[in-house]
Amino acid sequence: MTVLWSDHVADLMPYMPGEQANIPNLLKLNTNEHPYGPSPLAIAAIREAASEDLRLYPDYQALALRQTIAQRYGVTPDQVFLGNGSDEILAHAFNALFLRQGRPLLMPDVTYSFYQTYCCLYRVPHVCLPLADDFSIRISDYIDWKGEAPAGIIFANPNAPTGKLLGLDDIAAIVRAHPDSSVVVDEAYIDFGGRSAVELLAQFDNVLVIHTFSKSRSLAGLRVGYAMGSTSVIEALTRTKDSFNSYPIDRLAQAGARASMLDEAYFQSTRRAVMDARELLTQKMVTLGFNVLPSQANFVFARHPQHDARQIQRLLREQGVLVRHFQQPRIAEYLRITVGSPEDCERLCNALTLILDESH
Ligand SMILES: *Cc1c(COP(=O)(O)O)cnc(C)c1O
Repeated sequence: MTVLWSDHVADLMPYMPGEQANIPNLLKLNTNEHPYGPSPLAIAAIREAASEDLRLYPDYQALALRQTIAQRYGVTPDQVFLGNGSDEILAHAFNALFLRQGRPLLMPDVTYSFYQTYCCLYRVPHVCLPLADDFSIRISDYIDWKGEAPAGIIFANPNAPTGKLLGLDDIAAIVRAHPDSSVVVDEAYIDFGGRSAVELLAQFDNVLVIHTFSKSRSLAGLRVGYAMGSTSVIEALTRTKDSFNSYPIDRLAQAGARASMLDEAYFQSTRRAVMDARELLTQKMVTLGFNVLPSQANFVFARHPQHDARQIQRLLREQGVLVRHFQQPRIAEYLRITVGSPEDCERLCNALTLILDESH
């Protein structure tokens, strides 16, 4: 019955999330969820919010949560924007910032694939600039860009799915070179070893930094993301959001996210545990013969010179271990594997050992 569809729907390119399988004794290392649960204080706050008050709409401005985030990062509440997951913030950013007289959006050829989806949805003209051979972002391609002045530039940092980090000075150089473009830095993984570009807000109005509670704060199921930018950029996002859905962050989400943000000690210890496990996993996989890119995220990106990535993924799945593979030019040989607990990493490596042994 596609005759009933709006004209553009057949041409959409929906994002394909990693599998949420229903397999007994599953080890899920395919969507970069956190191995440890959220802060117990967050769970308690959600329980408390699950009350009669749910008959009332939430605070559409989510002021308490925005104040807490602003304080944590040294910005003002009107520099903070919230979304139902950072994916929703990205959608609003594409709509609010990247549609300017046909000017292009610049982004890496290998990055978070949702950006392509939003380009398609909002018909944002875009140019993909190839990463260097070692998968680093070549900042000169952006700084010395000779084409039409871009409406914006977007990349994930650390980049997905490579885990490679771009330094703050390099980001500042891009931002400085394009004062009339919005530079959106998607920092979904920044808490696993990078330095946030939020510092640049003291100097620049044209940078938007997007974070999520889904990864380092282990609240993927709560659906909360936040962005920090100049008041003018945040106003553009807010106008767009309030033309779409005034209440994207429900009462439970506002309470849970705020309690999570206030529990600094839990945040620090759990992110540290993941970073330690990442080093352990990297070493073990190198021992198994994998090339593992140095990662500053909660996943590793690795290939085995003698084994097909797709095949390894399939055989891992037979052992109840899910990892992510992207059938995409340049990276089809790689697997993206979430860093779990030390026990998770051990189970993964045992499964990999079995697969590599059996195929000889
Ligand atoms: C996981 C992820 C997101 C989305 O996170 P949500 O807040 O759960 O929507 C955004 N960007 C990148 C690069 C991610 O990996």
